[in-house]
Amino acid sequence: MLTKDLMEQVIAKNPGEKEFHQAVSEVLESLEPVLKKRPEYLEAKVLERIDEPERQVMFRVPWTDDKGVIHVNRGYRIEFNSAIGPYKGGLRLHPSVNLGILKFLGFEQIFKNSLTGLPMGGGKGGADFDPKGKSNAEVMRFCQSFMSELYRHIGPNTDVPAGDIGVGGREIGYFFGQYKKLTNRFESVLTGKGINWGGSLIRPQATGFGCTYFCEEMLKTKKLDFKGKTVAISGSGNVAQYAVQKVTQLGGKVVTLSDSDGTIYDPKGIDAKKWEFIMDLKNVKRGRIVDYSEKFKCDFWKGQRPWKVKCDIALPCATQNELDKNDAKMLIDNGVIAVAEGANMPSTPEAVELFIKNGVLFGPGKAANAGGVATSGLEMCQNHIGLSWSAEEVDHQLHQIMVNIHKNAADAAKKYGSPGNYVVGANIAGFVKVADAMLDQGVV
Ligand code: NDP
Repeated sequence: MLTKDLMEQVIAKNPGEKEFHQAVSEVLESLEPVLKKRPEYLEAKVLERIDEPERQVMFRVPWTDDKGVIHVNRGYRIEFNSAIGPYKGGLRLHPSVNLGILKFLGFEQIFKNSLTGLPMGGGKGGADFDPKGKSNAEVMRFCQSFMSELYRHIGPNTDVPAGDIGVGGREIGYFFGQYKKLTNRFESVLTGKGINWGGSLIRPQATGFGCTYFCEEMLKTKKLDFKGKTVAISGSGNVAQYAVQKVTQLGGKVVTLSDSDGTIYDPKGIDAKKWEFIMDLKNVKRGRIVDYSEKFKCDFWKGQRPWKVKCDIALPCATQNELDKNDAKMLIDNGVIAVAEGANMPSTPEAVELFIKNGVLFGPGKAANAGGVATSGLEMCQNHIGLSWSAEEVDHQLHQIMVNIHKNAADAAKKYGSPGNYVVGANIAGFVKVADAMLDQGVV
């Protein structure tokens, strides 16, 4: 293998960062056929450069809770690659956040953003802060403290963060308010903004809708669609919520959702009325998914994931490595046809291998969940031209982008000898554009 030594170097240089190793290893493996055809990438050390973030910032985030007690979290921003545009990627607030997780996310973001066809480089950031159980005032003070350092590293033409786990409209609002206060500039420095102050219609829906559109394209290759299909979804946050809505609109029946406490199983399906309940529960009351099972009298599987359920389609939409080899085996034994990743790297490498070996249509996160960042790109575009597009217009563009991503990934997979393998196709299609830009721009 051309990249074996390089992978060893990545592990030695980034000790203990297992999610980062996992993400790099998957991409490097897929690139072997390209490297054989394009040796100039090896000569110009493009792989060594692309694996190393251009800049990483780590900083102290002190804040005071409602009782006056002082807490200290650690903030990060990984500015990974700016070959095709300003750094772009979400901010994650979750106690599990560490450097390795954000580097894996930033690395994936490079290729995902390239796949969208829009001019965006790759970045990611966040903090090991847990917004769960905190008051609005505490979340606001944390966000203000975080931005008091981050503001000097970002800008509309430098780095444009967005939301991710634990960061929705409320947090983006607090970040933006503090950025504006510190810089005295109202500019397009964050996406996922409120609709009255520069946000785009359909941005909240974009990742869940986009993942469903991507899955629909995969199904079409087998002359199938969502109608009458049973669908298992994990998570119950932003991505999961809008995946449920779009799948239901397309005629599928969603029977599971989850959070870190466990999974609800509703064999009758989550209809529009039940969906409204979830939106209120998760976005207004900030409650737990177990409340759904109490309200609608269905099963709650405490501490378990959804994957033992019999379903035609699975959309993992919670977090990384939430679907392992045993889960994949259960899904395959139960006849799953398609798996599209709403979350980033939710399937372990062993699970992915099993899906591909067994002919399951498998859409990797960097392709299937690219609709979120694509619509962030559309939000930046609207901000730059000072206009606001209708929901129909944005949804139409999002749909078209997902169709194109599917086509480009499928074409690249075929061209490089792995037809139907969207992992190989997405990695190659995403990589080539960034690598060529790096060659054009010299050794920087
Ligand atoms: P949210 O914070 O809105 O929701 C996350 C959901 O996943 C919650 O239900 C949460 O449960 C669950 N979850 C988080 N961490 C864990 C864990 N360690 N174990 C079990 N469940 C967990 O985040 P999003 O919906 O925005 O993000 C979900 C995934 O989608 C992430 O992988 C993210 O990187 C990816 N993504 C998001 C995009 C976006 O536009 N938002 C764009 C592209 C990808 P609980 O409340 O109990 O923590």
